[in-house]
Amino acid sequence: MKFNTKTIHGGQELDPAYGSVMPPIYQTSTYAQSTPGGHKGYEYSRTHNPTRHALEKAIACLENGQYGLAFGSGLAAIDAVVKLLKPGDEVICTNDLYGGTYRLFTKVFENFGVKFHFIGMSNASNITQYINANTKLIWIETPTNPMMQIIDIKATAEIAKKHQILLGVDNTFATPYLQQPLTLGADIVMHSVTKYLGGHSDLVMGALVVKDSALAERLYFIQNASGAICGPQDSFLALRGIKTLHVRMQRHCENGKAVAQFLASHPKIEKVYWPGFELHPNHDIAKSQMNDFGGMVSFTTKGNNYEEAIKIVERLKVFTLAESLGGVESLAGHPASMTHASIPKAEREKTGVVDSLIRLSVGIEDQDDLIADLKQAIG
Ligand SMILES: *Cc1c(COP(=O)(O)O)cnc(C)c1O
Repeated sequence: MKFNTKTIHGGQELDPAYGSVMPPIYQTSTYAQSTPGGHKGYEYSRTHNPTRHALEKAIACLENGQYGLAFGSGLAAIDAVVKLLKPGDEVICTNDLYGGTYRLFTKVFENFGVKFHFIGMSNASNITQYINANTKLIWIETPTNPMMQIIDIKATAEIAKKHQILLGVDNTFATPYLQQPLTLGADIVMHSVTKYLGGHSDLVMGALVVKDSALAERLYFIQNASGAICGPQDSFLALRGIKTLHVRMQRHCENGKAVAQFLASHPKIEKVYWPGFELHPNHDIAKSQMNDFGGMVSFTTKGNNYEEAIKIVERLKVFTLAESLGGVESLAGHPASMTHASIPKAEREKTGVVDSLIRLSVGIEDQDDLIADLKQAIG
């Protein structure tokens, strides 16, 4: 089955009760048993729920994996992955991680004795020097947030495999429409379903997909034992969103390209970060591991003025000033004061998150309106 068919039919079965085309919202906590233990596959909705299960199968199919697990948020999904580890274990991760992931690692899991190394991975071989006998997980995002660095998933997977370390990829920015990390050798794919998979800014959810049954078993245990699951209503909404993923992503990519090119030609703009530019340091890797370049674009203004950046985002009218990304509507954010405010200034500036950096999640509106809006806001 090709990807554009998978988004609509992948992992889906007609509902056995009435043949409803969409899975019903099984808004129930428990299921009747004929005799103790005698049930129809569902006992209690923390453990399993038919609507959530339909979603988990759909996401697993899109990522070319075997097992999908849905959680109450993207961070709850990452939380479950780190719970595979023990005190003393070490994790190597990308240095410009999503701010919430950085906070979860440093403010929650460091207290439990897990050690994190935040490093530049534009060159995958940089990882090797941080590997020791305690290294159990490599965690990457590509493209990274908000600097749009590209990490070579295949090269990273080869290093991980050689040292028997799990490789997890946060695939939120790219979505399986653009890249499929499991196919490139990763062990775990993670999504903030809140973003492109849901696609309509109407839910908060996370997901994991794996291929290996023993790893899936351990993660299902954690999902049930810790209980950070999502509800049936949100599972239904996410499934509905996924059905148009390919159509939305195609337009996100077209609009992202138009916006990146407009910004690059603007005299007040200093730098534009978008992996589709030939001058992007890892453009060749992006071209080889992604089907297109996505709808996320970041830029800085000449003079790097904090107040001016705030004025630009306040003047935008079609773009909404908001955290998050990946919805049909265009959003703009100012990482230094919003998504990355929890990362110390010195730390964030090391990775390029300077005062004038603005991040755009380019939506699927008309290109002309988006460019006109940026034009009036930048002035
Ligand atoms: C939003 C986001 C997360 C966290 O997901 P939530 O659903 O907000 O918990 C993790 N990684 C990336 C790249 C994100 O954009």
